[in-house]
Amino acid sequence: MFNKILIANRGEIALRIHRAAKDLGIPTVAIHSTADAQAMHVRLADESVCIGPAASTHSYLNQPAILSACEITGAEAVHPGYGFLSENAGFAQIVEEHGIAFIGPTSEHIRIMGDKIAAKETVKALGVPCVPGSEGEVTSFDDARQIAAEIGYPVLVKAAAGGGGRGMKLAKTTADLTDAYGQARSESKAAFGNDAVYLEKYLTLPRHIEVQVIGDTHGNACHLGERDCSLQRRHQKVFEECPSPVIDEETRARIGKVCADAVREIGYRGVGTIEFLYEDSEFYFIEMNTRLQVEHPVTEAVYGVDLVREQIRIAAGEKLSFSQDDLTPRGHAIECRINAERIPSFAPCPGLVKAYHSPGGLGVRMDSGLYSGYSVPPHYDSLIGKLIVSGHDRPDCLMRLKRALGELVVDGIDTTTPLFHALLENADIQAGDYNIHWLEDWLAEDLA
Ligand code: ADP
Repeated sequence: MFNKILIANRGEIALRIHRAAKDLGIPTVAIHSTADAQAMHVRLADESVCIGPAASTHSYLNQPAILSACEITGAEAVHPGYGFLSENAGFAQIVEEHGIAFIGPTSEHIRIMGDKIAAKETVKALGVPCVPGSEGEVTSFDDARQIAAEIGYPVLVKAAAGGGGRGMKLAKTTADLTDAYGQARSESKAAFGNDAVYLEKYLTLPRHIEVQVIGDTHGNACHLGERDCSLQRRHQKVFEECPSPVIDEETRARIGKVCADAVREIGYRGVGTIEFLYEDSEFYFIEMNTRLQVEHPVTEAVYGVDLVREQIRIAAGEKLSFSQDDLTPRGHAIECRINAERIPSFAPCPGLVKAYHSPGGLGVRMDSGLYSGYSVPPHYDSLIGKLIVSGHDRPDCLMRLKRALGELVVDGIDTTTPLFHALLENADIQAGDYNIHWLEDWLAEDLA
């Protein structure tokens, strides 16, 4: 096992990784920007290294500084968390070239899944169901028009290098396609330096359902069921649950097996998430994330597994500590992303937290680096905590969530807590009846 792990991230996920490492008896190194000197994970880590100024390009994305921090502290492994360098194949490669373990997949797998065309081709060949669309890249407008006519409108023009919803354009008719094709290419070229695009059928009212997978370096791979992350605002997940209210045991076992078999086949190392849109009882692959997800705790609650602990063990060459037969889902879990934002505008609201009280009790987990007197810096993502509740079924979980949200105190800044109080009163949410457009429609109508 590693003698020391460097955590190349910040905020709640840095704390999450620190905790898993300490539970394994492994000392931790925090890296931080000048703006994060007072962060909780920095205070708790065994060592810390300031790697640059507030701007993440000069700190959390600063690869030479992070490698130097490894060298200075003698860390044997790097955990990248999510965001920042977690899906940067070049970083994973250079870390390993320095003889340091990257707690994540191989750079090759990160590279393949980071290119949406290559990812789709790879998983399709492994039997994973995909959205109907072009076979690979579409290189001319004439081809685009012909393929769109074959798959039927509406269609999406998507960037191979896309991310965060950028480089994606909808065409409802042939007339729209000219602009959509041109704009997707130019936007993608500007944002990612790559203008390769492909075409996909646009699904009108899907849910977002993702399958958690995990593989080790001994040829073992399992799935840990699905999460439903359909409640999104601007393609950002807001509220996630496990299991999905619309997936039954048989469907879970079937899609889970397809995913586990696929990652076993490619020799995938570590945790990953295969994301699908789900419409009319069919799954359609959209992408694979080669890292830990923000919403991983709902899976942990239902499956009784510490995914970060497994990540660390796998990176150290150990075998998965469970087999598929050991994994039985129990009950239900829901996560709410608590952001430092003002409702209803969602304007960022960083600043001094005058008082903080975390909810607790049975089935309640609060992953957050907040404390009274902490000042939320304005330079980063507005996620300041995740409230995860679990119960023996969904109604139980919703009641507990209401109770736990009522206990949460964050004085001094605004948070998205009122959004969740309002959502819990809604009949569709109570019934689990929503799709990927539901939240934005509801925000426009009911919260305006
Ligand atoms: P990104 O990496 O930019 O987030 P994704 O491929 O994951 O791109 O898609 C982002 C979001 O766009 C999805 O969560 C979904 O809401 C929507 N989307 C993507 N593909 C389709 C599709 N074929 N039909 C309908 N919506 C889609």
